Amino acid sequence: MKQGQPHDVIISGAGPVGLFLACELALAKCKVLILEKAESPWSPFKQLPFGVRGLSAPSIEALYRRGLLEELEIHKRLKNPHANTVQQGPRRQVGHFAGIPFLEGNVDTSQWKHRLDSSTETNLISAMEEMETILTRRAEALGVEIKRGFPLTSFNQTDDGVTVQSGDRSFQGRWLVGCDGARSVVRKFGGFEFAGTEPEFTGYSTKVDIADPEKLGPGRNLTERGMYLQSQPGFIVIQDFDSGEFHSSEKPITLEHVQKVLRRISNTDVTISALHFATTWTDRARQATNYRNGRILLAGDAAHIHSPLGGQGLNLGLGDAMNLGWKLAATIHKKAPEGLLDTYYTERHPIGAQVLDWSRAQVMIMKPDPQARALNSIMRDLMETRDTSTYMAARVWGIFTHYDLGDVHPLAGYSVPNFEFEDGRRIGELMKDGQGILLDFDTKTSLKTLADEYGDRIKYVSGRAKEQLGLSAVLIRPDGIIAWASDSEPNEQSIRQSASLWFAQLIS
Ligand SMILES: Cc1cc2nc3c(=O)[nH]c(=O)nc-3n(C[C@H](O)[C@H](O)[C@H](O)COP(=O)(O)OP(=O)(O)OC[C@H]3O[C@@H](n4cnc5c(N)ncnc54)[C@H](O)[C@@H]3O)c2cc1C
Repeated sequence: MKQGQPHDVIISGAGPVGLFLACELALAKCKVLILEKAESPWSPFKQLPFGVRGLSAPSIEALYRRGLLEELEIHKRLKNPHANTVQQGPRRQVGHFAGIPFLEGNVDTSQWKHRLDSSTETNLISAMEEMETILTRRAEALGVEIKRGFPLTSFNQTDDGVTVQSGDRSFQGRWLVGCDGARSVVRKFGGFEFAGTEPEFTGYSTKVDIADPEKLGPGRNLTERGMYLQSQPGFIVIQDFDSGEFHSSEKPITLEHVQKVLRRISNTDVTISALHFATTWTDRARQATNYRNGRILLAGDAAHIHSPLGGQGLNLGLGDAMNLGWKLAATIHKKAPEGLLDTYYTERHPIGAQVLDWSRAQVMIMKPDPQARALNSIMRDLMETRDTSTYMAARVWGIFTHYDLGDVHPLAGYSVPNFEFEDGRRIGELMKDGQGILLDFDTKTSLKTLADEYGDRIKYVSGRAKEQLGLSAVLIRPDGIIAWASDSEPNEQSIRQSASLWFAQLIS
């Protein structure tokens, strides 16, 4: 049975990445359908404390630029959900590498020249449930249709479109994007290679009652046999270096099993009196070797998986969505310059590869062997230094996330600083409509004329900013990335060349 008119895009999966991508596409006036396997979005693993997610600078900026940041509430009341005692001041933990904390007072943010006083936060706490609730509300307000209890089961693509099957129901789309998570069906049936490394451990997230809680240490405990973390009484995370065997076995997670593993790792005879819920995960690190096959695309965990150490997966996926949304929409509306959609892979794949390596490096020094212990101890010493902590913070918070856009300008490929104009407007707040922006600090008629040639694809914004970082004009893509910038009298040929790579002119 076929349903209605074809959608521009069908998205498989209403996780945070599928929802955010849907918002980006709908903002750009695409007709979007999301098929979600689960009947209900509710899960205890999406709520605090297990559902906690650290958001990094690029994700925070993305939400801010679309007017969604102010809807996040959890971070206002919760600074560090992993700490038993919330330390304030310079000794406050603001992140970690392999469980080794770096402290607020050791991070030298003055090194990050492009971060202005008006910039958004570098890191924030949210939760899966909060994120999905906000994005669902926005997607529905923008006209996205979300069908829950509709797992994608198979699909078939032709030159013109994609037919998607959910059981005996069939849906037509012009494009299909797999945002269906680590076990993506779209990736599996879409002919994608998923290359990478096998796991070292099984991770457990559990909610238990413990008869003798005094036998366990508070917070994160690296032991000779693995790691256990008690974020709040009864909420226990365990890392058991079993090469991911238990997770792969898909055996039921029983109270007896969790107790056995916890006793071994903690080297105690602790007793679990009740198991309320439990799930497992691993540090398997794999990435699709391509993100597109014809009319099929991948984003988020469907495109890359790795351990949650250092909390990067959601950020990586939101970055995919921000990068892909405007490019796919321009392609659908026939407003895309040649090759625009291909830059989704060339820009996002290297960022994903870096994150996979970041998580592998952490696993390596957490292993319960003497070599790893030795490295771990050196890393602890290094972390006390300002340079190491600043480097770690910059990596974890994505401060220097950058696409290689060639030799255009040193700032090209970076997220645009949140310039604040003398009248109080901030550039990030002018991006809610998802258009590109030609930012002119010197109010030149020639730049306005150039922007006009692109219609609603490039918006002309002029005015003096409080801090301009020596720039005279900046071309900003819809995802907030600097496509071109000038320190002096703008060279018209150079800006025209850059603009033509990212935007199609109204009349060429
Ligand atoms: C313990 C833990 C802690 C983490 N902490 C952090 C953190 O601090 N920061 C961070 O950035 N990341 C963190 N992550 C990673 C982050 O949660 C994921 O990277 C993120 O959820 C990926 O989002 P997604 O939308 O791609 O996939 P998912 O969130 O997995 O969503 C996929 C959706 O697709 C649906 N689906 C599956 N199959 C189908 C199908 N066949 N048809 C239709 N729908 C389907 C699923 O039901 C689901 O709703 C953590 C992960 C874990 C396990």
